[in-house]
Amino acid sequence: QVSYFGAGPAPLPTSVLEKASQTLLNYNDMGIGITEISHRSPEANKILADTKTALATLLDIPDDYDILFLQSGGSGQFSAVVYHMVSSWVEKRRKRAEQEIKAEASDRALEQKVFDRLQKEVKEELRLDYLVTGSWSLKASQEAARLVGAEHVNVAMDARKANDGKFGKIPAENEWELTPIKKQGGTGAALTYLCDNETVDGVEFPSFPSALDAQSPDDERLVIADMSSNFISRKVDVSKYAVIFGGAQKNIGTTGITIVIVRKSLLPPHAPLADPRLLRDLKLPVGPIVLDWPTIAKNNSLYNTLPIFDVWVAGQVMQSLVQSYGSKKIAGQQEISDRKAQLIYETLDAHREVYQVVPDKSVRSRMNICFRVRGGDADAEKAFLAGAAEKGLLGLKGHRSVGGMRASNYNAVTLEAVQKLVGYMEDYAKGGS
Ligand code: PLP
Repeated sequence: QVSYFGAGPAPLPTSVLEKASQTLLNYNDMGIGITEISHRSPEANKILADTKTALATLLDIPDDYDILFLQSGGSGQFSAVVYHMVSSWVEKRRKRAEQEIKAEASDRALEQKVFDRLQKEVKEELRLDYLVTGSWSLKASQEAARLVGAEHVNVAMDARKANDGKFGKIPAENEWELTPIKKQGGTGAALTYLCDNETVDGVEFPSFPSALDAQSPDDERLVIADMSSNFISRKVDVSKYAVIFGGAQKNIGTTGITIVIVRKSLLPPHAPLADPRLLRDLKLPVGPIVLDWPTIAKNNSLYNTLPIFDVWVAGQVMQSLVQSYGSKKIAGQQEISDRKAQLIYETLDAHREVYQVVPDKSVRSRMNICFRVRGGDADAEKAFLAGAAEKGLLGLKGHRSVGGMRASNYNAVTLEAVQKLVGYMEDYAKGGS
């Protein structure tokens, strides 16, 4: 009887949960539960393979991408992207320096000259571009600053600046201050980071920003996207991203795994990473092995123990979407997600005297719908939540850092649940308590 609109962990399809309870007792008639079998067993391998196939099918992931599963949480990837992309940038620069200096230096002098140049380039040119549109991209940028130093982090856009110090808008692309690519001879910023959907602030990029589109193969930006809270909810052109990552616990499955979709050309042998000794000498961070994408990729995500049950749940959810939407693939889910979000926003907009949507209309999230009741009046918001709880509508309180209301509209939130919520919103607005 309960409809849950919390921002994550979030509801799962009842059919998957029912099957999961059986699976915990007896997986595939093995006489033993799924959490009790080895992550290296043939059964676990099949679960991994089937889950990858379902995700690749849903999102049309091209063959030149690898899919990794890790335990890091979305936050772990805030660090992993920095370790990996900085290492990759240093190696590109090292190779270039070596080629250019080789011609003019004796072998013994070469290594020192290359190192001296790298030291200078790191100091003057190493930049990580962050588009800060909400509290999660802010956190990711802060982690980058913690790891490599704030002087290397270029906040190319801070959405608060154009909006009275608050998140809720995305400034026009021509106002972004991205690190120029040409100036740096093709290796520009080590990464360009965005959070596709800001869970706390209810801000979602409407589409892939054209400012980040490649002008030619040589001046492509390496775009990293956090899709933790809108993964598999809409069509995505994966080829535009170097890396997409997200925790499973909102739109995909249970808490415990994080999915990374990474372009294979960023992994060895195509893109050798810098020698850890060189990174240390340059005073750049060397990441822990459990966050090391090449190691995870080489071991088919089984470098260390992977919670196979969580992979199984994610696989079940994805396979049921593949089955439900057939050739429409993720576009089928997108239609439903859009319709549910539209129902809620229409209701909020129809009663503007009672409800005020927080983010600007141009960037409203379809996943996390943030609004105030009577301008944020504490009593009105308390009454709204209490009335909702009486009707079994739970999890509507906004994040503690911003307050207000937040209705999270993930894939497993049913249309019926949304209709129930919308019915309550109407009643509340008319009753006007
Ligand atoms: N990124 C986004 C957009 C999130 O919403 C969250 C968590 O809510 C995270 C990252 C952090 O994820 P985790 O708690 O799995 O580290």
